[in-house]
Formats: sequence, structure tokens, C-alpha cells
Amino acid sequence: MKILLIGSGGREHALAWKIAQSQLVSRLVCASSNPGMAEAGDCRDIADPIVFAKEEGIDLVVVGPEQPLAEGLADRLEAEGIPCFGPVKAGATLETSKAFTKEICDAAGVPTARYGHFTESSSAKAFLKEFKAPYVVKADGLAAGKGVIIADDLARAEAAVDELLKVSCSVVIEEFMEGWEVSVFAVTDGESIQRFGSAGDYKRAHDGDEGPNTGGMGAVSPHPNFSRELEDQAYAEIIEPTLRELKKRDIAYRGVLYAGLMITAEGPKLVEYNCRFGDPECQILMRRLRSDVVPSLWGAATGRLAGVGLDWKDEAGVLVTYAAEGYPGAYEKGSEIQGLDEVHKDFDTYVFHAGTKNDGEKILANGGRVLSVTALGDDIPSARAKAYKAAETIDWPEGFYRTDIAKGL
Ligand code: ATP
Repeated sequence: MKILLIGSGGREHALAWKIAQSQLVSRLVCASSNPGMAEAGDCRDIADPIVFAKEEGIDLVVVGPEQPLAEGLADRLEAEGIPCFGPVKAGATLETSKAFTKEICDAAGVPTARYGHFTESSSAKAFLKEFKAPYVVKADGLAAGKGVIIADDLARAEAAVDELLKVSCSVVIEEFMEGWEVSVFAVTDGESIQRFGSAGDYKRAHDGDEGPNTGGMGAVSPHPNFSRELEDQAYAEIIEPTLRELKKRDIAYRGVLYAGLMITAEGPKLVEYNCRFGDPECQILMRRLRSDVVPSLWGAATGRLAGVGLDWKDEAGVLVTYAAEGYPGAYEKGSEIQGLDEVHKDFDTYVFHAGTKNDGEKILANGGRVLSVTALGDDIPSARAKAYKAAETIDWPEGFYRTDIAKGL
């Protein structure tokens, strides 16, 4: 099988690394490049993935990030008869429009925060008064993690409404949900659902959940508090009714549905959906998966997921991301990263690249989130110890990482 992989971050390096191990794959082409992905596949500068896929006889396109899905890449591939792991634009709307997701939740009876959807500032502000602090104000649309403001007082919440209405044509105002968060991944062909694991992620830049939101600074998988009972409840009450509702609307969802859940005193509630794997979570899931990932990707893309099994390693996984000093604000590129070969001498740790590039023999930083150390261990503390030992081995003074990933778990 010939696979084309779209995307260039740590998530895609992890997918490339795992896909490359499959006996089913004769060729893996990566439509972008980083030094890690270049070891797993044939990295090409591809102007149009559809033209490339047709010319090269690609059997399956795997789309890592949300943007191409939001732009309709899966629709275009479907029109050409090329299987794609990643939903069509109408399915990706679960990620691109919070108002659409809320409407699906209403129709399917999915538990989520009470909300209102507004295009106009004064009615949004009037609705805020129905809630108590903290207030949750969200832009409706892709906002690269910057579209949600949680305000401690009404004045700040009202200002947030005006701020977000400048970047988005509408806002969603929600009740604040008290609880703990878990990321849950369901691979689906629109009919069958494969439970693809859970993870806890660390979105804030600094220790103690301080600092701005990022694309993810760490992860732990499986989430230690996400019991089988909670998982069954989440699938029965949230994920399965959502997919049934999409089907009712003739939206064939083929790919991964990533549910961000809040586990509240009343049970799991939906915070958000994403139409692709989370970046840090995907890396740790690929490390934990013992069986081949390709049957899941292919099965989801072609409507043949029923009966495809998964075999997970028994170990826990912890991921720690190294970012450039200053990220997610301004940061420098071009500093040298050393010590990566030392890390790979330990079988249980592996580094996935995101914002790096080659300069001859050297590896240079070339982005904000630069690389991630993943480690497996008998339990979370041992995986954590290995991940941090590896992070310390990497010699990159211009980078930083959080020191509290998976602490206390
Ligand atoms: P992401 O970058 O994860 O895609 P996003 O911009 O789509 O984020 P959400 O996931 O909706 O935004 O919200 C971001 C974070 O804000 C959540 O992970 C959660 O911690 C918090 N949050 C959002 N909505 C609520 C809510 N109703 N109650 C409590 N916390 C919330």
C-alpha cells in the first residue's frame, strides 16, 4: 500500500514513524518534512496532494492537521475516489464551529455546558448575566487555541465578547463546568467505532498550569483516572450519539473524532470536538500502540473498520515537549540542539521532531514547539522519570520544558 501523509508536526512524525513499521506499506510519502519524518518516509515538497496522489497511485491519504480538512481536502479526495483518513469538510465543522457542535449536541442529547450563540454584542452581554463567574466566552471558528476566554468577573467577560466579535462573526457563551479534563479518541468509518485510547494533556506553557495556552506541552496516556465505567459512559452518552446524529445528516465521518471531555460531578460532559488527533496525544498513543496502525487508518477511510482490533502495550506513556524560549510569544530560530543520539540509546524513550531542521550534520531549532520526548514505563512515575532523564540529556540551552508533566499521577 502507498500512503501519503499530510502535515509536518510531532503528530505527523509519530504517525510516519508508526506507519513506516507496517508490513502493509510499500511506500510512505510525507508531504512536508522535518528531520525526524525524513527518517521514516520519503519527504517531498508537494504542491497539490490530489495531483500527486493520482500521478503516484497513492492508495490512502492520512491527514494530520485540521486546516486541510476544514478546507475540504477529504471532499476533493473523495471526489477522485482516493481513500482519506480525515473527515469531509462537513464533519470537520465539529472542530471549526463551536455553534455547530452545540447544535449537534442539542439534537443528539449530548451532555455539554448550557450555552447561547450570538452575533451581536448586547444580547451576548445580556446572556452573560444568567451565569455566575467564571464566565466562558468563545469565538465561533478556528482560532489556534486563542479563541476561548475564561473571565473571572463580568467586566472582563463583557470585554471578551467585544474582543472575540472582532475576530469572529459570532461568539458562544457557556456555563463554566467544574471537573477534570480528559482527551478521548475514537477512530471511525462513520459506522463502526474503534476506541483509540485516552490521554491527559497540558496546554499551558508553564508549570502549575500558568502562562498562555499552547499547542500542548505534555501528555500522559492512558489517563489514570479515566476508568472503564467512565469510558463506557462517554461513548454511550457523547461519542456514539454524536456519530449517529452526523449519519442522520448524511455526513460520513471517516477519521478520528477527538472528544475533549470534562468529568463533572454529574458525569462526562463535552467541552469540544476536534476532527484530528491531538498533537502530543497522538505521539504518546503511537508509542503505546503495539499493533499495526495502518488497518485502523485504512479501515476508517474505506468503511471497513468493523472487526479491526488494537493491541496496546501495558506500559504507561509520558510526553514532555521542548519549546523555544519565549514560545508561544516571540522566539528565535536557528539554535543548535545536541544530545539527541544519547536519548535514543534508551529503548524506552523516543524523540519526535516538530520544529527542527537539518543543517549538515546539525539539528537546528526551527519553530516554537520544537521536539517532544516520549517515554514508556511500568507505571506513570517510571515513565515520567525516563522522560525527564531524556529531556535533561538533550543539550539545548535556548529551549525550555515544563517540569510538572504527569507529576503526582
Ligand atoms: P483547543 O486549543 O484545545 O482546540 P479551543 O480553542 O477549541 O481549544 P476549547 O477546547 O473549547 O477551546 O476550550 C479550551 C479550554 O478552556 C478547555 O480545554 C478547558 O480547559 C477550558 N474550557 C472551555 N470551555 C469550558 C467550560 N464550559 N467550562 C470549563 N472550562 C472550559
